[in-house]
Amino acid sequence: MAPISAPPHYAAELAARIGNYHTIGMPEETWSLNNDHMTDAGFLEMVRTTYREREAMLFDALANNNSSLIVSVFVQTDRVSHMFYRGFDPEHALYDETDEQGRDAIAWTYREADRILGKVMAQLGDKDRLIVMSDHGFSPYRWSVHLNHWLVENGYMALDEGATESGIGFEHVDWSKTRAYAVGLNSLYLNMQGREAEGIVTAAEADALKAELSAKLLEMHDDKRDQPIIKTMYDGAVVYQGNANDDAPDLLVGYYAGYRASWQTTLGAVPKRLVEVNRNKWSGDHCVAVDQVPGVLFTSFKPGKANYAIDELAQMILQE
Ligand SMILES: [Zn+2]
Repeated sequence: MAPISAPPHYAAELAARIGNYHTIGMPEETWSLNNDHMTDAGFLEMVRTTYREREAMLFDALANNNSSLIVSVFVQTDRVSHMFYRGFDPEHALYDETDEQGRDAIAWTYREADRILGKVMAQLGDKDRLIVMSDHGFSPYRWSVHLNHWLVENGYMALDEGATESGIGFEHVDWSKTRAYAVGLNSLYLNMQGREAEGIVTAAEADALKAELSAKLLEMHDDKRDQPIIKTMYDGAVVYQGNANDDAPDLLVGYYAGYRASWQTTLGAVPKRLVEVNRNKWSGDHCVAVDQVPGVLFTSFKPGKANYAIDELAQMILQE
């Protein structure tokens, strides 16, 4: 049996105290709701369940009082914002058909968060310190961008002879004439010699190609809405550090709020159009330019400086 907690006995001891709880990474059925296999009310009932489980875990840890640091991650604000931004954003295609409960869903998750936070604050001792933080904010997801379509239109990706589009997994992509491809939410890769199976871009060409792509992508324009689509391009070699950098994207696309890579883009498909209206219930997201979705940081003490980046928080916690 594989342990699901560290230490391994903790999971069962916790269940003995608070009852059974979900254990897989993401129990909230976002995709079932997106595919209309469950109702809004059913989804929110499930979120209420996982919210209660996490609340019980947090107060169990506080009651045990045997650690100098307790970290509790609440994902419910994220899951509900993904699925119910359509009830929060009057410009979303599904706003009109979202009912009262759906329009209140995001506010409900924050009322719950406030209630739990109030309970925690009531238990704070004189020397306790409390930090509330989010790892990102949220933005509307109104329009899907088929990034690989743009790469074809602009000569960076080639399709097989006679093909005008491609299914997922780059079904009809001609790699011998393709210099860049998009797969994943914000990732753009060069088709590098020695890395990709049929790579054609040499190491000597890579930096210039990255610069050229970045400059041109910033000019991408949504003709129908007459507005730009991409706010910032990030160089993977600059924004990522560490020993997994060889697998990191070469470029990252920072969309304006409202836009997001299409689901087809995430799987390496090349549809015929550049922009499509998002009619899915998955209607909010945070895969955009960094400054479009700032997170929040609240502290029960005066922090050392006014602003922290997320990767500075561990240091701040150690100092406190
Ligand atoms: Zn999320």
